[in-house]
Amino acid sequence: MKIAVCPGSFDPVTNGHLDIITRACDLFDRVYVAVLNNPEKKPLFTAEERVELLKEATAHLDIVVCEQFEGLVVEYAKRRGAVAIVRGLRAVTDFEYELKMASMNHHLDKDVETVFMMTSTEWSFLSSSAVKEVASLGGDISAWVPPCVAEALTKKFVHASTEL
Ligand code: ADP
Repeated sequence: MKIAVCPGSFDPVTNGHLDIITRACDLFDRVYVAVLNNPEKKPLFTAEERVELLKEATAHLDIVVCEQFEGLVVEYAKRRGAVAIVRGLRAVTDFEYELKMASMNHHLDKDVETVFMMTSTEWSFLSSSAVKEVASLGGDISAWVPPCVAEALTKKFVHASTEL
């Protein structure tokens, strides 16, 4: 059984993430989508909320398991029996950071390979931070995220604006 992990912040999950996760499902027998629980990043959604949104958005993919993790990705991958870490690449700007991470992870554990997938062109501009920015300004983000995320973002920002 070939197992992969797709690690990330997923704050929140976008159609770009879902595209990579769906394509990973064609290559592996089980895909763990792993939410990094790093409070230093000051996420908009808690790790629990991010996992719940991912579960809802990937409910139709029965080989996907969504959960949180802390610490090193390679150690998490090892615990799950994964042979690969799957990451998405959008622009050249992603490349330098991803090369650094992949090289460090390779140094830490040579048995876990990092696999890169190029973004689909329609999502190449899409990031969680852009989605959050547009949503916070009241813009329509429904083309970029699954319906459960659009709803959760609306709730967050309506709530935030009533607090001001
Ligand atoms: P991180 O903070 O670890 O970069 P993200 O949630 O931003 O976490 O991204 C997780 C993974 O999804 C990364 O490999 C990232 O490159 C990829 N990704 C994010 N947005 C897109 C997109 N629009 N198209 C393809 N891959 C993407």
